[in-house]
Amino acid sequence: MSENCIFCKIVNKEIPSELIYEDEKLIVFKDIRPQAPVHLLIVPRKHIRSINDLKPEDHAIAGDMLIAAQKIAKLVGVDKNGYKLNFHVEKGGGQEVFHLHMHLVGGWEK
Ligand code: AMP
Ligand code: ZN
Repeated sequence: MSENCIFCKIVNKEIPSELIYEDEKLIVFKDIRPQAPVHLLIVPRKHIRSINDLKPEDHAIAGDMLIAAQKIAKLVGVDKNGYKLNFHVEKGGGQEVFHLHMHLVGGWEK
């Protein structure tokens, strides 16, 4: 938990989100400003600032995020048509929330 981190607050249910999935490692919720018909955020419960701060011992978290993406894409029905998985890394990469997350975007017309 990092103070004043909005995603830590969502993870801890201190502020609401439109939750799609959660398990012991991560949560998945709808992006509040969707850029596509389907726009979800895959967020590890552990506070890690960005990809730059991933440590070798976090490798399971990184892998879990990809496995969750595969599962959630199927759950929301974008797996067959296809989708994008994006990381924004630090300010120059467009990152606005400094708690590691992966965007899952899709749902465009076939
Ligand atoms: P970025 O840091 O650029 O990878 O993106 C952060 C994303 O978090 C943006 O797409 C925001 O719309 C989204 N976001 C910010 N606050 C919330 C919130 N309270 N609930 C859901 N999504 C949020
Ligand atoms: Zn956080």
